[in-house]
Amino acid sequence: MASQKQNDSSAAGYQPLFKSFATDAIHVGSEPEQWNSRAVVPPISLSTTFKQHGPGKHAGFEYSRCGNPTRSCLERAIAALDGAQYCLALSSGMAATLTITHLLKAGDGILCMNDVYGGTNEYFSKIAAEFGLGVSFADLTKLALLKAALKPNTKMLWIETPTNPTLKVVDIKGCADIVHEHNKDIIVVVDNTFMSSYFQRPLALGADICMYSATKYMNGHSDVVMGLISLSRDDLNERLKFLQSALGAVPSPFDCYMCHRGLKTLHVRMKQHFKNAMAAAQFLEADPRVDGVIFQGLPSHPQHELTKRQCTGCSGMISFYIKGKLEHASTFLRSLKLFTLADSLGGVESLAEHPSASTPLMEPGSLLSMLRRSQESPHGCCRRQPGIVGSI
Ligand SMILES: *Cc1c(COP(=O)(O)O)cnc(C)c1O
Repeated sequence: MASQKQNDSSAAGYQPLFKSFATDAIHVGSEPEQWNSRAVVPPISLSTTFKQHGPGKHAGFEYSRCGNPTRSCLERAIAALDGAQYCLALSSGMAATLTITHLLKAGDGILCMNDVYGGTNEYFSKIAAEFGLGVSFADLTKLALLKAALKPNTKMLWIETPTNPTLKVVDIKGCADIVHEHNKDIIVVVDNTFMSSYFQRPLALGADICMYSATKYMNGHSDVVMGLISLSRDDLNERLKFLQSALGAVPSPFDCYMCHRGLKTLHVRMKQHFKNAMAAAQFLEADPRVDGVIFQGLPSHPQHELTKRQCTGCSGMISFYIKGKLEHASTFLRSLKLFTLADSLGGVESLAEHPSASTPLMEPGSLLSMLRRSQESPHGCCRRQPGIVGSI
């Protein structure tokens, strides 16, 4: 609706919605004029290779690992939604993390938020460190700690905000300013999985690279595993394209088609996730059987004001603690009717999980006291955080 005022549906107190987001999600990359058939929906291009005009002379595509028409349609759409020049679609969120980390070389240092997705923590500390990268963690919610944690060899800052699953919010602009003032060549990466392009644009806040597990909200239907990287720096884009092709972390054309299809309803889904999460968080906060709710949309969240300065709203992720012991959390999860007990963020369906359940280090005891204990651990690794995570 062209006549609609830009900020009609902005949430009160949050940043204005990104201009023409829905129009771009639906049209960028899907232009019928790009095909001889004038197909309204981009075709799935299964060909692994493309006929050349002459040796070394190709018409935009050579070999499908290096580039594919269906993938390229999705990448153009994502770049538009992130306000980026470029996008790369990869075979998983972890493949995106791996490819980005390959921008560094042995001896370089990576400084990471001390509460990140378990797989990211594991990759940095158990794999990247073995290849000679210096890996350190800091609580980036405290900007003074960031400054102190920068080392002469620091080449990359890895931010996740809100964090998985304790929903700590990091000031992206605050971090990027500090780091770039210290050394403009330090690459600031933001894992934007929990917010999606709809609620947060890290590049506009000073990040060099924005990445996603598109397995989550960006695709949103729990039927594709994929990663995305968006950025505007020419040099990093060239290098990442080379790395992706050399490392082979490419998605299938079918998955690209699926993710592009899911993306076209991102604006509708995210708005509803926010609304549902707000209602559930308020309900849980008022329930005497609940010991604490973490949701950055609640005024009780320590970084609620920062969230309003940084985001256009909140997604559907909520963490909360129920009173009692581990077995009570387990009974709760087994008794759910509409929510499915499963890992990942919810898509069109709602999921709930107990992040500490699969961690042998957890001991039975009050959930809240376990939270406190885990916060005292050196890295506050999210794998050890108890409580229930709901994705609505
Ligand atoms: C799921 C997730 C990842 C990993 O992505 P995959 O697509 O599962 O490889 C990375 N970061 C965050 C925040 C995630 O939730």
